[in-house]
Amino acid sequence: MMNHYLLLTPGPLTTSESVKKAMLKDWCTWDDDYNLDVVQKIRQTLVALATPSNDYSSVLMQGSGTASVESVLGSAILPDDKLLVINNGAYGKRIAEICQVLRLNHEVLSFKETQAPDLALIADTLAHGQFSHLAMVHCETTTGMLNPLEQVAKLCNQHQVRFILDAMSSFGGIDMDVAALNIEFLISSANKCIQGVPGFGFVIAKQAAITRCKGNAKSLSLDLYDQWHTMEHANGKWRFTSPTHVVRAFAQALMELEEEGGVSARQARYTQNQQLLCHGMQELGFKALLPTDMHSPIITSFYSPTEPEYDFKRFYQALKALGFVIYPGKVSDADCFRIGNIGEVYPEDIARLLSAIAQAKYW
Ligand SMILES: *Cc1c(COP(=O)(O)O)cnc(C)c1O
Repeated sequence: MMNHYLLLTPGPLTTSESVKKAMLKDWCTWDDDYNLDVVQKIRQTLVALATPSNDYSSVLMQGSGTASVESVLGSAILPDDKLLVINNGAYGKRIAEICQVLRLNHEVLSFKETQAPDLALIADTLAHGQFSHLAMVHCETTTGMLNPLEQVAKLCNQHQVRFILDAMSSFGGIDMDVAALNIEFLISSANKCIQGVPGFGFVIAKQAAITRCKGNAKSLSLDLYDQWHTMEHANGKWRFTSPTHVVRAFAQALMELEEEGGVSARQARYTQNQQLLCHGMQELGFKALLPTDMHSPIITSFYSPTEPEYDFKRFYQALKALGFVIYPGKVSDADCFRIGNIGEVYPEDIARLLSAIAQAKYW
């Protein structure tokens, strides 16, 4: 079972053969083999990856990552709460869109996609705006920018604001302790750095923060408290049909993360991939969109070549024929393409990719 091509796209991404094979059995959602041995273990492992603290719990939620974000926002923001949304890319903007659709009391602090969130402005806004919550994306997958997690967490603490982190494309690939950062809700999904297949997201949250959501959800299927309550008190049962095969694959992916040496080992591999990529691309004449100190070990945006002969579609097809799928750009005011380096991708693959790019670059 050979991979037809390597996905250098941060979700879905390239998974191991053993993760794919874990989906070859059917599972009963009522049986302990599934609920106790798979679901409950996953929930415990996720919390253990996030923090040694006992104050946290986890909830798995059907749907793509956005469904989990929507579940948190629609459940955690009470009528008298007020949320500050930090927006410097498509995923920050998506948080703001969810707030609009759900009619949540919120304000958006927007920055350019190539600009790091301005900490002084955030501090000033928090000091004057009577906010109860702040939501930010950790790794903005739009550009590949790593937002200032520690600094923003510190500001939230100083202003006694509850911190919601979209760590979709970073959790499992970048080491962090959610309790040390005093994060209330961390959101991620199966098909990013844990290297599972798409189908559900997960939320790691303070136990007390989940309890606070009780009776507040704006949606039945995305009710975070209700989902947590059922999983917690019915031994890992999901309220509605759970993506059993995907969950089994995720359990396998978590085992493989541990075998690799945990989050720090995975972070080291991703970092090595990304540095090799950046260095090699520079040698091939490509320029990264962001300065190096803003890069994440997850995904990198490169300016499209300016030669009139360059055409993304043709470049993409040529690379695909050579075994690599890359991502189009997502930045509004710069012509870019993106290359992700997470998933079952190793430095040897990046070296092969760079030779393929040298070949495909025929304009
Ligand atoms: C992938 C991703 C999401 C979720 O996207 P879905 O398409 O709903 O899975 C949210 N935020 C960030 C930062 C992401 O990278």
